[in-house]
Order: sequence, then C-alpha cells, then structure tokens
Amino acid sequence: MSREIINIQVGQAGNQVGSAFWQMILAEHGLDSNGMYRGDDDQKIARVGVYFSEASDGKYVPRSLQIDLEPAVTDNIRAGPLGQLFRPDTFVTGESGAGNNWAKGHYTEGAELIDQILDQVRNQSEKCDSLQGFQVIHSLGGGTGAGLGSLLLSKLREEAPDRMLATFSILPSPKVSDTVVEPYNTMLSLHQIVENSDLTFCLDNEALYDAAVRTLKNPAPTFTNLNDLIAQVMSGISTSLRFPGELNGDLRKLALNLIPFPRLHFLAPAYAPLVPPGSQSFQSMSVPELTASLFDRRNLFVACDPRLGRYLTAATIYRGKLSSREVEASVQQLQAKNSSSFVEWIPDNVSVTMCSVPPVGKKQAGVCLGNTTAIQEVFKRSQEQFAAMFKRKAFLHWYTGEGMDEMEFTEAESNVIDLINEYQQYQEATAEEEYEDEVTEEVIEE
Ligand code: GDP
Repeated sequence: MSREIINIQVGQAGNQVGSAFWQMILAEHGLDSNGMYRGDDDQKIARVGVYFSEASDGKYVPRSLQIDLEPAVTDNIRAGPLGQLFRPDTFVTGESGAGNNWAKGHYTEGAELIDQILDQVRNQSEKCDSLQGFQVIHSLGGGTGAGLGSLLLSKLREEAPDRMLATFSILPSPKVSDTVVEPYNTMLSLHQIVENSDLTFCLDNEALYDAAVRTLKNPAPTFTNLNDLIAQVMSGISTSLRFPGELNGDLRKLALNLIPFPRLHFLAPAYAPLVPPGSQSFQSMSVPELTASLFDRRNLFVACDPRLGRYLTAATIYRGKLSSREVEASVQQLQAKNSSSFVEWIPDNVSVTMCSVPPVGKKQAGVCLGNTTAIQEVFKRSQEQFAAMFKRKAFLHWYTGEGMDEMEFTEAESNVIDLINEYQQYQEATAEEEYEDEVTEEVIEE
C-alpha cells in the first residue's frame, strides 16, 4: 500500500519549481506528460501511488494543488506541456496578487482564499487510503508562497495534526532578485515555519546560483536552470518514498532519523554529481568521490559552510547500481576522517539509503540531507538584512496598512535569533554535557 503525499505548490516560485518537480518524476516513473504509463519496469510503478492517484481511464493524476493569488503562472502551467496532467479543480487562484507583501498573502488576499483551498485539501485527502502528509513548495521572500503558504501550514496543522508537514522552502538571494522587502517576508515566514513544519528542505537561491555559475559553468542562470537543480534534489530526496526500498520509506521515518530537536528541522540538501551539461566526467566517479561530493560545500544547495558547523545528523541517498558495502564503507571512512564535523553525542548519525533506479539519463547520483548547525549562517544573513531595515522602519507601512502589528516583526526576529542560538548551543555541546539525556528523551517521545 502506498502512503500518500499531497503536494501543494504556492505562488510563483512554488508553481514553477513544482512544474519542474512533476516533470522529473513523471519521467522517473515512466509516465508521459498526460500521466499515461509508458514504461516496462514494475519497480517504476510499484509505489507510484505515493504521488499519483489512478483515474478510471488509466491515467495517473498528481495528488497536487496549484495555488496562487494571481493567475499568470498557473495559466502558464495550464497552457504548457503539463496542461492536461492536473485535475482542473485543483487549481485555486485569485486575481489581485500579493505584490511581494507577506501581509497580503497571510492576512488579507490570501485569507480570503483559504477556505476554498482547504476544501480542495479535504477533497484530495479523501482520495487517500493512508495519507502520510503534505509537502508545500514555496518561496519565503515573496508574498503568496511566503504569506499564504505559511497560513496554509498553520491551517493544515490544525486540520491534520497527526500528518507530517514538510516544506521545500526557497530562500531569497540578491543575486537573483532585487525586491527590497524579501528579508521581512523571509523572517515572518521563518517565524511560522519553525513552529508549523516538521521537516523543511532549504533551497537557497544564493547557493543554487553559485553552483550554476561556478560548477555548471553557466554564466547567466535563469530560474529554469535553478529549478532544474531543485527538481533533481527533490527527486533524490523523495527516492526512498517513491521506490521500493528499506530505510526512510516515509516522511516520518526520515524526520525521526534526522531531527533530534523539533525546532531544528531545517535541512541543507546536497546533490552529486554536479556536472556541466555535455560533460561525461561523472561516469568515472568512484563511490568515495561521490560520497566526498555529498559533503562538499560546492554541492550544497544552501549558502553555508558545513566545515564551520557540525552535523547533528545526515541522511544520504544513493541511486544507481552501486555496492551497498562500498557505499557504507565510504560514508564510515568520511565520518572517521572528519569526526570533529559530526556531533559525537548522537551515535550512528549518518544514515545510508540505496535505490537501484538511477535518475533518468544518469548512471548514478546521490543526495545528502544535512542537519548541520552551519545553517545558522543563512538565518543570520536574513536577520541582519531584516534588522537594518526594521531599525529605520523602512517599508513597514506596507504591512501595517494591511492590518499587521509591528509586534509580529519583533516576535519573528526574536524567534529566529533564538533558533540561531539553539544551533550554536548544539554546535558547542559535548557528550559530557546534559544534552545526551535530552536527545534520548526526545527520540523516545516521538
Ligand atoms: P509569490 O508569487 O508572491 O509567492 O512570489 P515569488 O514566489 O515570486 O517570490 C519571490 C522570491 O522567489 C524571490 O526570492 C525570487 O528570487 C524567488 N523566485 C521566484 N520565482 C522563482 C523560481 O522559479 N525559482 C526559484 N528558485 N526562485 C524563484
């Protein structure tokens, strides 16, 4: 039986990244862009029910909602190659847009749409036998994905408290966007996500842009290029959910392995191999090289340096025909060689999952989800940009004009500062301290 996941893509980034994700997993499961199965490998279709329901005509339909406060991006989806894939009633769109204003997404324009969205969530949930949870794809720097996306998370939490809530959250970078209020939107979103998400996969446009320029030798990356990278990592993360295999077979197990403290659920994904189009060099990549890449800053999709922090936990997922013994040995060796980079008070804190089905067009690939204390760098970056504007109360009237109270800004900032301090505290913690007991208790509580 499949444990279903409902995808909810919100706002421009959410819908554009969502399209790239669906395109990739259609190909991996042997489905065409209309959702018809064209493959001949049972492994591909065995767990397709996680992300797709089967219609009476044999078509596989995504368990997905496409939400936006303005129609342009979702209209593009409807007019594009995936136009026939989604159920028409799973598009929920407004007319006015959020104008990059978190308050509009969360409190005014977005709030008007929320009941309609929740009706569709219920509709989709009823089609599931054993729903494991939801994944929300959104950006944190805009108005809709950030404001309405986080409102939706809090409603889902109320409505389905026993289901997992995961987010694929895109962090802003001045390298790809020049909207000045992004730090406000990001901090207000983080304030919500700390409480209402179980598992947040951070996708940082800053790191994606750098990977595209430096490693993939693309001098002027577009959103499409960045979204392809994101889709690869999303496909890698969900491998063990979508294909038969042993470990981390669902979101709850993934969270149990990766999250020792509920608030510290922000994961930094890495992907390997990252090679310029046309380059064949990955063909010769050995298993230890692949493993080393997964812990290399250049392959990380969050702009932080893991060498400056410590891994609380990590989950590696290897794809392709690889020897599990060799893979496990390479991970153990890497950990032994860099033991100070992994906290010693959580034993066996790097998990290994294998899936023999490689990504389309590749022989092998890997993803690493790191719960590293170095991720605090990203939150510091946002907090500093936020503080510089908030001090002068710059652009605050955009938000107060929608009825927001300044207090919410202050609370958001102090919540994120607390989060940064918690990462720092666990970075410095040693086995002799009390934290060891705490970890054991928390794991048992789950
Ligand atoms: P919304 O429609 O109001 O949710 O606003 P957006 O999703 O456009 O949010 C703006 C933020 O998302 C900025 O940080 C943009 O750089 C980023 N963004 C917008 N579209 C994309 C996209 O397709 N891919 C990526 N990676 N980032 C995007």
